[in-house]
Amino acid sequence: MALKKFLGLLLAVFIVFSPALTKDKKAAQHAFDGKAAWTYIRDLSTDEMGGRRSGQPSGTWGEEYIASKLEEWGLEPAGDDGTYFQNFTIEHRHIEEGVAFEVLTEKARRDFYYGEDWRVQRYSGSGHFTAEIVFVGYGIHAPDKEFDEYAGVDVEGKVVMFATGSPSKLAQKLGDAADTKNRIEAARKLGARAIIVFRPAPSQSRFYGIGVDKELYDPDFVILAIEDKVTDFIFKDLKTETRYLFGEIDDKGIPQSFETGVKAFISLNSYFDEKRPTRNVLAKITGSDKILKDEYVVIGGHMDHLGIDPLGDVYNGANDNASGTAVVMEIARAMKLNKARPKRTVIFAGWAGEEQGLLGSRYYCDHSPYPIEKTVAYINMDMVGHGSGNVPFRGEYYSPEIWNLLEEKLPKEILEYTKPGRGGPGGSDHTPFLGKGVPAYAVMTEGYHFKYHRPGDDIDLIKPEIIKKVGDLVYASVEILASEPGNLILPMRRETYYLKYQDLTNFKFEPLGHILEKHGDVRDSHVDLQLAVVEEKEGLSGDELRVDVINALFDATEEMKKFKGLALYLPSTSVSMNSRQGRTTVMLGLKGINSLRDNPKWARFLAEGLHFVVADDLSFLFGEGGLTEEGKTFLKEVNSSGLLLMVKGLDAARTKILLEEAKKPVVFLEKELPDKEILELIKKKEYALGLILGTDEEPAAYVQKLEQAREAIGSRCLMIVNENCLWGTAGKEQMLKVISEMLKEEEKYERGDFSNLFSSTLQRVLRMARGGGAQPSFSY
Ligand SMILES: [Zn+2]
Repeated sequence: MALKKFLGLLLAVFIVFSPALTKDKKAAQHAFDGKAAWTYIRDLSTDEMGGRRSGQPSGTWGEEYIASKLEEWGLEPAGDDGTYFQNFTIEHRHIEEGVAFEVLTEKARRDFYYGEDWRVQRYSGSGHFTAEIVFVGYGIHAPDKEFDEYAGVDVEGKVVMFATGSPSKLAQKLGDAADTKNRIEAARKLGARAIIVFRPAPSQSRFYGIGVDKELYDPDFVILAIEDKVTDFIFKDLKTETRYLFGEIDDKGIPQSFETGVKAFISLNSYFDEKRPTRNVLAKITGSDKILKDEYVVIGGHMDHLGIDPLGDVYNGANDNASGTAVVMEIARAMKLNKARPKRTVIFAGWAGEEQGLLGSRYYCDHSPYPIEKTVAYINMDMVGHGSGNVPFRGEYYSPEIWNLLEEKLPKEILEYTKPGRGGPGGSDHTPFLGKGVPAYAVMTEGYHFKYHRPGDDIDLIKPEIIKKVGDLVYASVEILASEPGNLILPMRRETYYLKYQDLTNFKFEPLGHILEKHGDVRDSHVDLQLAVVEEKEGLSGDELRVDVINALFDATEEMKKFKGLALYLPSTSVSMNSRQGRTTVMLGLKGINSLRDNPKWARFLAEGLHFVVADDLSFLFGEGGLTEEGKTFLKEVNSSGLLLMVKGLDAARTKILLEEAKKPVVFLEKELPDKEILELIKKKEYALGLILGTDEEPAAYVQKLEQAREAIGSRCLMIVNENCLWGTAGKEQMLKVISEMLKEEEKYERGDFSNLFSSTLQRVLRMARGGGAQPSFSY
């Protein structure tokens, strides 16, 4: 510490006494050139470049252009085998430009517009032919179930048309023969050349078609969806109507299939490739510090876009995202011109496959030759070519330490237009980095982004002066992050990301007064949902107690309005939405049941402002082998009120009785796993087990227990119930360790598991408790 301080002082002296030198050094610098970046965008977004679609020749042209520039400027290659490319494969679907669909009746011929009147379905094959259309109802082929819409019609080499949906009266009889998958399979097996699907009843909304499975792909089998106007044209000269036909099928269960005599002309080339090669472009400047060179600062943007659509329109994607790519390139060039010697290694990335699902950046994060744990930060640029002049820089909530450092060191002129924001996953290539715990910031310029994902996102929209602002910001940030001495990699950063990203419930049932007092000024807390209780005053009972509870409730909700960082929970509340706005949702409940015992009807009134009741003594409910009369009435009233009952410390026999008798969900708060029978009942009734994480409990042992419970009842019926307060250090650290244990075997956890355990299960049972029960008639 002392040495560091001394060095800092020396540096300060040096700066003070050498103003001329500093100035000269600045003058010699090659600044980020917005006009130069503009020319890369221009080159990347010409019609000849073809929209840079990964997996297509146009994608390759873009990759090559970028790599050749980086090479020309002397950047070090950072891809596979000393090249600028990191190779991988993507699942690729493509419909070639130039498609046609015409319908030929005896009297007329009409062609239809792609995208408006008809669409090629996912995993369709190609075809160029004219063939008769055969109407086959719903396209169900189940002769063994006495329902065959292919009986008596010849579909060999023809186009079958069938409707979405299925005859509901026959649902039981048909079983999975009515599944879309089996219907498509049947048409193909019986020799049809193509399927056109339509909706049996006219509709105002657009018809995008049906979900087709990958396994159904056949290069010579065409699957299209048509809008109502096409169906109408096919039926125009026929002496029947779809409404009549489906009436017969639906009501009488009699197939109405027939050969229409109307023909379809189909011409399209559609491809599907499970493993199409593509590549990220990667370059670097190796760090100069002996130790820090093994740490990385990554900047990147996706270079791919949407290519050419079946109508031949080119999606140039000048703003999305030739702009971000160009900024990465120009920073690389300027750093080389300036002979930059960053301490850490700087990596410059152009991602492929973003538009097809963040594929390139995800591949990099999973297979990076540069360890992701050693990656200090990532800055993403996506759509930075025009706008108001302000430059949002989002990610502060997840990694405040990085923003704090930048805010301290960035020049004032840059800070003036830089707008830090909360940030988070979603939308672009910073997402996979966040998921790995890397501090990741997303830059997208402020303002309306014209022609987003449309033809017309062209170079003439792009403003060099805006690009310059982004470039200056990111260039300066890279210099700071790559040269800041000391450790920038925080411990438990991946766990911390999970803690912050998940909607976290704090089960420490604190009186609302405490919460307002201690956390009232909170903003952007990792606690997203706080359970707060209205406590029953000792010594009061009956109406006196109830009046007191209701008064406390009124006062509390009035008081809450003063705190901008807190939001009161209502059944319509979205906890996530509040979190994204930096607010912690506070849900009020009742601790104790004395105010309900003598007259449980009051539960309905209390449910106007309260959402749950926590009870640790319910012994009065139970008699010999069942509920007492008092218990029955109590349970009935609480169930119909909409209040969620949370119980603690019931023995196994009583737990079973309650599970069987309750008509609405009960949350059982338990330290240990209940017996198998209880677990099965909880699962069957879709109630919930709250597994208590004790104050001193060992995280590893707890997660093992949690895992057993999850195997038994699924995360849908399970929640983590902390005893330590999560606002405090001990509670937070214990929870981080729990997450750490879970991440050690993350492959076991499926999508949604984390969210269920941390809050979704609770929110589900709350909704279930309200369902059919009283909805609050007024809000506070
Ligand atoms: Zn984009």
